[in-house]
Amino acid sequence: MGSVIVIGAGIVGLSTAWHLQERGHEVTVLDRTGIAAGSSWGNAGWLTPGQAIPLAHPSLWTYGPRALLDPDAALHVPFRFQPGLWSFLARFLGHATSRAWDRTMAALTPIDRLALEAFDELDLTGAGSWTRPGPFVVGFEDEAQSRGFRGEVAGAVRHGQDVPFERLTEPQELAPQLSDAVTVAFRLDGQRFLEPGPYVEALGRAVVERGAHVREGVEVTGVSPTRRPTVALATGERTTADTVVVATGAWLPRLVRPLGVRVPVRAGRGYSFTVATDYPARHPVYLPHARIACTPYRGRFRIAGTMELRGPDEPFQPGRVTAIVRQARRLLTGVDLEDRQDEWVGSRPVTPDGLPLVGATRAPNVYVAGGHGMWGMVLGPVTGRLLAERITTGRTHPAIVPFDPLR
Ligand SMILES: Cc1cc2nc3c(=O)[nH]c(=O)nc-3n(C[C@H](O)[C@H](O)[C@H](O)COP(=O)(O)OP(=O)(O)OC[C@H]3O[C@@H](n4cnc5c(N)ncnc54)[C@H](O)[C@@H]3O)c2cc1C
Repeated sequence: MGSVIVIGAGIVGLSTAWHLQERGHEVTVLDRTGIAAGSSWGNAGWLTPGQAIPLAHPSLWTYGPRALLDPDAALHVPFRFQPGLWSFLARFLGHATSRAWDRTMAALTPIDRLALEAFDELDLTGAGSWTRPGPFVVGFEDEAQSRGFRGEVAGAVRHGQDVPFERLTEPQELAPQLSDAVTVAFRLDGQRFLEPGPYVEALGRAVVERGAHVREGVEVTGVSPTRRPTVALATGERTTADTVVVATGAWLPRLVRPLGVRVPVRAGRGYSFTVATDYPARHPVYLPHARIACTPYRGRFRIAGTMELRGPDEPFQPGRVTAIVRQARRLLTGVDLEDRQDEWVGSRPVTPDGLPLVGATRAPNVYVAGGHGMWGMVLGPVTGRLLAERITTGRTHPAIVPFDPLR
């Protein structure tokens, strides 16, 4: 087998590196900052294939305009010129129909069904069992709020996923963090969660122990479309390999657009922080109406939310955290929202059609892996496995056929 350069040390790049090693390739990983420096660090860590569903939903037509005018809404689009943003949003909205939702869900279902077993395959050492089962507790202020979410779960089931889902009469028994404002709740089973940053660090260690060279603080500025691709670094250095995989998350377009990948990828920035809780937080909690996801993390509770359309390198916006806190104050109790730690912003790599980009570019021996939007953590390991299989055997697994980067 040959030499491969993987650009990007997030969950997707490192999973791909691991599976390439499994097939005998000699791997070098390059990252402009370091392992898990991007979106793979402070995310909610939900491994919920039953929720890995299309982001564009018909409800966006009513929610979107309202959200643009509400500073506390989860969706935030700053009113200023951002090249390409409005055409991206127009394409995204074009997929917010029931037919498009079904089409996208049909394309996601095969990979969703493979996602959890791919975590067992990685078999990392370091923290005993990294992934933990639910249940996930899903709460609403009234019955009407829950309709959209129940419809989404029914959609995932209709397309062939097994998503155990049942009403809770005493949700506070499982999640004492829910306030009295939450009067309607459900438990979602068959899913898992983990601590994402430490997990990706452990994956990075595993890849190094298996012989990879991981170079941190190395920014790639371009990949040449030659038979044996050459990678140009910001330092002026050039390095070549038999194969290159670009897995740079929300930064993908810069490197892959010149290689024929026309599907745009925008940063859908999310924020998170951790808080202490009066009672131990044992289960993840989802508040879909406020778009807030909470996960037990290192003895604290991580609260994550918001979707801000800004460049991935723009500064942290404290106002976005305030918006999450205002919503959380109403819906949660016994959590110390004043003493926030681990405040973080990360960029979900979002495509307008809700499908990832996994496969070959127009340049020989250059591949792309990314664009998983809200669900790169859960889909990262299976993406790595299927792309490594494609690179090694030339065969494209049916689960990644819809993700052709040249579509
Ligand atoms: C608030 C929030 C909550 C989320 N919750 C979940 C969840 O519960 N479950 C889930 O499945 N997903 C979740 N996600 C989405 C998930 O985090 C992402 O889809 C996933 O981390 C993307 O992984 P990646 O490896 O593609 O990109 P990243 O993790 O962003 O990695 C890309 C890497 O590329 C490097 N890089 C970029 N450009 C260059 C360059 N030119 N040269 C060298 N290196 C470069 C970066 O430094 C970075 O390390 C969430 C996201 C957010 C923001």
